[in-house]
Amino acid sequence: MKRTRATLTLNRPTEPRPLALVGRKHPALHAPALAVDDPATVYDLADRMIATLRRHRGYALAACQVGEFVNLVVLGPGMAYCNVAVEVEADTPRAVAVEECLSLPGRRFAVPRAVLVRVEAFDLVRAERIAAEFRDLDARLWQHEADHLNGVLISDRYPEVRRGEQLGGSAAS
Ligand SMILES: [Zn+2]
Repeated sequence: MKRTRATLTLNRPTEPRPLALVGRKHPALHAPALAVDDPATVYDLADRMIATLRRHRGYALAACQVGEFVNLVVLGPGMAYCNVAVEVEADTPRAVAVEECLSLPGRRFAVPRAVLVRVEAFDLVRAERIAAEFRDLDARLWQHEADHLNGVLISDRYPEVRRGEQLGGSAAS
């Protein structure tokens, strides 16, 4: 019998359990994330964050959104990074687009972001430190996550977009 993706998923013995997203007033959402000393200590949390991200159909999730104070970010479909540093050069052009946040359900914000970023992080899947450049939507996602790692919600800094108002694309993370 040919094994399909679906049967493989169904046969998996222990699917990591999703975590609850914390409310927007939770202190983890408003504090700078702590560096991870030993990446081996955050793999279980990363697996459960990936399950959480899948449940909410988001693009990315930072550990503070599940109430953890560590510098850990997961991106769909199954990427995880700790000790993330996102760098933007001052003269990089910005673009404004609508962003949503899993920590601010149902709300939308008009957020200017640099179109190019450089990211350094420890890649938990490859088990090595990476440095790479990202553009456009990927650059936007990383800057949204960098805000989370700095204890900033988009509602702290950017104007809310009213219902029915249109402004470019949308990204929830
Ligand atoms: Zn967010």
